[in-house]
Amino acid sequence: MKIKIGSRGSKLALTQSKWVVERLKEKNPNVQFEIQIIQTKGDKFKDMPLQKINDKGLFVKELENALLDEKIDIAIHSMKDMPSALPSGLKFTAIPEREDPRDVLILKEGYRDLDSLPKGAKIGTGSKRRKYQLLEYRNDLEIVPIRGNIETRIAKIESENLHGVILAAAGIHRLGLQEKISMYLPQNIVLPSPSQGALAIEIREDDEVTLEMISSIACEQTCIQVEAERAFLKGVNGGCHSPIGAYASIDGDQIRLDALFGDEDGKKLVRKSKKGRVDEAEKLGLELAQSVLKELKMTKDKVYLIGAGPGDVGLITVKGMEKLKEADVVVYDRLINDDLLKNVKASCELIYAGKKPNKHTMKQDEINKVLVDKAKEGKVVVRLKGGDPYVFGRGSEEGEELHKNQVEFEVIPGITSAIGGLTYAGIPITARNISTSFHVFTGHFSDDEKAFDFESIAKLNGTLVFLMGMKNLEKITKGLMEKGKDPSTPVAIINWATTASQKVITERLDRIYEYSIEKNMKPPSLIVIGDVVDLREKLNFFEKKILIDKDIVVTRPRKQNDSMIKKLKEYGANPVEFPTIKIKNLKNEKLKNEIKDIEKYNYIIFTSNNAVEIFFDELYDMGYDARWIGKAKIVSIGKSTTRKLSEYGIRADLTPETYLLEELYELLKNKVTKDDNILLPRSEKGRKIIVEQLNKISNVCEVHTYTTVADDSEKENLIEKLNNKEIDYITFTSSSTVENFFKIIDDINKKLLNDVKIISIGPITTSTINEFGFDVYKEASEYTIDGMIDTIIKDIK
Ligand code: SAH
Repeated sequence: MKIKIGSRGSKLALTQSKWVVERLKEKNPNVQFEIQIIQTKGDKFKDMPLQKINDKGLFVKELENALLDEKIDIAIHSMKDMPSALPSGLKFTAIPEREDPRDVLILKEGYRDLDSLPKGAKIGTGSKRRKYQLLEYRNDLEIVPIRGNIETRIAKIESENLHGVILAAAGIHRLGLQEKISMYLPQNIVLPSPSQGALAIEIREDDEVTLEMISSIACEQTCIQVEAERAFLKGVNGGCHSPIGAYASIDGDQIRLDALFGDEDGKKLVRKSKKGRVDEAEKLGLELAQSVLKELKMTKDKVYLIGAGPGDVGLITVKGMEKLKEADVVVYDRLINDDLLKNVKASCELIYAGKKPNKHTMKQDEINKVLVDKAKEGKVVVRLKGGDPYVFGRGSEEGEELHKNQVEFEVIPGITSAIGGLTYAGIPITARNISTSFHVFTGHFSDDEKAFDFESIAKLNGTLVFLMGMKNLEKITKGLMEKGKDPSTPVAIINWATTASQKVITERLDRIYEYSIEKNMKPPSLIVIGDVVDLREKLNFFEKKILIDKDIVVTRPRKQNDSMIKKLKEYGANPVEFPTIKIKNLKNEKLKNEIKDIEKYNYIIFTSNNAVEIFFDELYDMGYDARWIGKAKIVSIGKSTTRKLSEYGIRADLTPETYLLEELYELLKNKVTKDDNILLPRSEKGRKIIVEQLNKISNVCEVHTYTTVADDSEKENLIEKLNNKEIDYITFTSSSTVENFFKIIDDINKKLLNDVKIISIGPITTSTINEFGFDVYKEASEYTIDGMIDTIIKDIK
């Protein structure tokens, strides 16, 4: 077995990597190890001050890419270079024993230690942590910014006429330069950087074999120290812009964490320490971070109670959306549209506060507690509630609780279903000469109806709206009529207002209850009583939407399905995402070479959005832009490919009439000759025939830039919907989505599709569907997404 180890190329990095390899060899004598040098962005910009290069993963990203691409199996980094969040699919564990964590001074000859330096002495360092701590100890010193590797920095004592430099002991020891050290700096003067002296061994998350191997050299004590120190780093959310220090010392099962944090210009520097148990190292670090931030008045803790609107995602306020995007934690209700949650940051924690079948519901006390606790951790917390937070939403109780706990909060109103829900059903809540007031009630009342004053309500002439009233519908209608309300008053019941599933019925007051049972109306619904209901005949814009209520499965990969989903929604449909495939960028080196050589190509053919995106992103990463492709003619297949090209400022020269590759051949056969070179960057799974055909009349260079892999994340959701007979159509846009679909939905479940109409984008996709034993209900009139939607619309008409 051979394990490939990625390392940066600097002398220190290589020494570190070799040190790790030696340890690994001792414990795993039968394994071969090979070190591969990988250059990082940080190595390329050696002389720029770190603060200017705004990138937390400066020294690690290229190594991580090599890991993900399986070019290496282990990446070795200095732990202090590791950003607090790793890319998904990677992890580091099993940290080997740490070197000396302290900082040291290397001084010009004649000086022993910090106290022996003359007034105004010059010390070189590029680190704010070292600078501000040194100045705290002796404010007469002059700190000179320097960068570079260890030897360069030591040499700067001479070349820049410094009295000395400050460096990490670990690096000096590893390079065997101990004799140069003048003084080890104690922690009370200069606290080291979090996890200084420790190495991070990063591997792929699922690589059990390598994990076991590196576990053999792990040091338990170092792991605990690093856990606490990095938790502090994460807690203060610090990059290289602020001075940060942390060191954990362990004594038996006790741990003490010393930490330091300050603002960017070092005006305020806070040192704090805290003790705890070793099994709570992470918690200790996070708590200490919060108390340090508090002291610096830098905590962001705040709770936003946000009204999400009645259901349609577009009905949240601009301000509500803005805060939702900033949230570290979102606590959300059952009634909000899940699509809103797609807007949160990747790191945002989502907490569901509603009731799920068979699952426990969060009690109001628990919700209040979560809001307070999460805010006290220093987080931006969003409490997202359906409609408006204060309309029967218990928002005021949450506000009171936050007030009691001295947590800062803000309330962002929302469109309440009690008004907006009616609007989407074509019912204005007031109208001149018809209704000059409105009254909103909760229909959720206990059995002693004394609390519910039907006497007074029946006398009101305005529009009456009941929320949460379905259980008591009979009591409400009877109660009102008994107290004199006209039995012929029009009533509407609006279910799932403003969503694709909106369903509305109308009847007279005396008949609505029976009718609602006949029509199986369920919560969440609004009950509207009053003459304004009649205006629905003229003002109902929403349900005119042609695809209203239709559940349509979209099997395209997530990255590409946006436009299709948006369109379906515009027609009122309820798109069900079932991505089936994910795009995997193959990071093919050949693409780089062909881009470098782009001059030799007369044609570049793009057959999909992905092909365009990957090509131009690579080109851009290489330092070029659209101008680089020069005179090459651009051939684009499909309208969306052409649109994608235009995003990069490229107008396609040739676009075949239809989406079929055969058409492409027809188009090019009279144009190209054996002197023409054609570049075709596309999916690994593209059909071979076109390359063979074109190669007979020209020279085609095909580069596989991406491939597709199965994505089964929505499987259970779809099966549940199929079981409940909720699906009307399934759309397929390519053979590969068909193949993946049937790979994911296996044999046993195929019969579920019997009642579903299958729509295919074109003949090739159709024949793949047939191969799986299914009939296509209809094929798109035009082989595009729009064509598919058109076909569905015609079917409904
Ligand atoms: N704060 C919310 C109401 C919460 S009470 C608001 O301002 O809209 C929950 C009740 O609101 C439900 O029982 C139902 O009566 C009503 N409701 C909320 N959203 C609804 C929707 N999209 N369609 C129909 N009724 C809705």
